[in-house]
Amino acid sequence: MIIGIDLGTTNSLAAYFTDDGPKIIPNRLGKHMTPSVVSIDGEEIYVGETAKERQILFPDCSASVFKRDMGSQKTYHLDGRAFTAEELSSFVLRSLKEDAEYFLGEPIEEAVISVPAYFNEARRKATKRAGELAGLKVERIISEPTAAAIAYGLYQKKQNTKFLVFDLGGGTFDVSILELFQNILEVRAVAGDNYLGGEDFTKVIQELFIKDTKIDSEQLERKDLGMIRKQAEQCKLAFGTDSSYIMSCQVGNDIKRASITCGRFEKRCEPLLDRIKRPVKKSLSDAKIKVSDIDEIVLVGGGTKLRLIRKYVAKLFKKMPNTSVDPDEAVALGAAIQAAMKERKEAIKEVILTDVCPFTLGTEVVIERGDDKYESGHFAPIIERNTTIPASRTEQFRTVYDGQTKLNIHILQGESRFAANNISLGNLEVEVPSNKAGAEAIDITYTYDINSLLEVEVKVVSTGEMKRMIVKNQEVDMTDEEIEARMKELSYLKIHPKDQEENQLLLLRGERMYEENTGETRLRIEYELREFERILNGRDEAEIADARKTLKDVLDEIDEEW
Ligand code: ADP
Ligand code: MG
Repeated sequence: MIIGIDLGTTNSLAAYFTDDGPKIIPNRLGKHMTPSVVSIDGEEIYVGETAKERQILFPDCSASVFKRDMGSQKTYHLDGRAFTAEELSSFVLRSLKEDAEYFLGEPIEEAVISVPAYFNEARRKATKRAGELAGLKVERIISEPTAAAIAYGLYQKKQNTKFLVFDLGGGTFDVSILELFQNILEVRAVAGDNYLGGEDFTKVIQELFIKDTKIDSEQLERKDLGMIRKQAEQCKLAFGTDSSYIMSCQVGNDIKRASITCGRFEKRCEPLLDRIKRPVKKSLSDAKIKVSDIDEIVLVGGGTKLRLIRKYVAKLFKKMPNTSVDPDEAVALGAAIQAAMKERKEAIKEVILTDVCPFTLGTEVVIERGDDKYESGHFAPIIERNTTIPASRTEQFRTVYDGQTKLNIHILQGESRFAANNISLGNLEVEVPSNKAGAEAIDITYTYDINSLLEVEVKVVSTGEMKRMIVKNQEVDMTDEEIEARMKELSYLKIHPKDQEENQLLLLRGERMYEENTGETRLRIEYELREFERILNGRDEAEIADARKTLKDVLDEIDEEW
């Protein structure tokens, strides 16, 4: 059987096709969604909810949102070892594969994996390789909006139907306009904001809490912040039914409490809603259609579960969106339909747009911090990510000190504000006449073409002197043998055994709650955790199951009290 996989930035899901249509495959914990979080402990890999809990306690051994760097050479350091985004993704896929095999009772060797519509060839290839590293053959990649459209049955609609897929994930927002035309589902336009998602709405709550409790955010430890974020997420989910929520977090030695109302939250979200409007407008204008031409609006992604978003979408389009498929599951279900069609040797023909630059290209600069103080190491974007290519952009930069005669152009790729966090592609040095600070200027032109070639041209404004440099894309390309070899290298890392996962997750949750609490409650948690560990050591399955239930009830009860 071929399964369908939604390899998301925040959450991943697998689905398979049955006589009753596509169905989600539950993971080892019985949940539909597996958080795309990886955590390493010695030779063991944790994926999903357990890794998410570990990320709060052991941030240096854990990674999330790595899908952003898919296809790049950026490495993540976990527990002292380096991994690329595609390798981390392969761990998520390995875990999904194992869970599917357990659930379906048969080996799974092939999958259809979805990727964002704007992923270019290199990033699609990297996704395929991630699949191969996980032991999955990936002959077909499908765009996320296309998969969602298929799940909504839009493929069976009448000709020349136009759909708008509105996908608000954890950290990304994508709008795609699709048109069904002579049996081809064409992606007419994509627009989005790679730095806007459900997490930003969580952050609004987090900031309200920090403000209300007068916490000095500069002094906050990474761990405390992680715990506040977790509470803020719970508060956001509670707003689905409740109009207020009491947040309570342990910060340092104090317990901080604040009551957050939904009304105040929604008011604070207005700037985020404004940011949603822009890509929507852009996609409509790129596809050269009016709002009234859209036949169907489809909501995808966990972020669209917010009441605030649903109200806003209805207002924006003057039409109720279609939400008949669970927004969390639409992409995975669509991928499963595509997988079934592949088995029957049919295909949904898809025309995709891949002519965008997938990352930001820029240069390193010195910025002024006031009072004549300068700070180096900052990044200035020149060609922004998702710009339609070929693209050519020029920016002017000036000297920063008196008598400066040299300017170094450090060519960088990446999304961080800081040069050091981005990928260095090369250096180019130019000379300028000695002059007062800021009196000499250079024009830097970046030209990025369809073949992923970057041309950097620098012109000294006062003398007209020019310098050029061509940077070839640093695409990762691997032969089958290389993939095989890397797979062997990574094989010492084993996915944490499934049968212990529930126990592990419960222990981690207890560990976190121990840190969150003080006094009596803390002692109680400690007692219960010790008791549970003792029984775990006894290895009596029935006894362990009983103890697990007891511990879970105690932790739930403490959570309730909060
Ligand atoms: P991605 O496509 O990035 O993997 P998802 O589509 O899974 O992400 O969306 C994850 C986001 O959805 C998170 O920010 C999460 O907080 C948010 N989310 C999930 N369920 C809800 C809900 N019931 N109400 C509000 N937000 C939700
Ligand atoms: Mg998604």
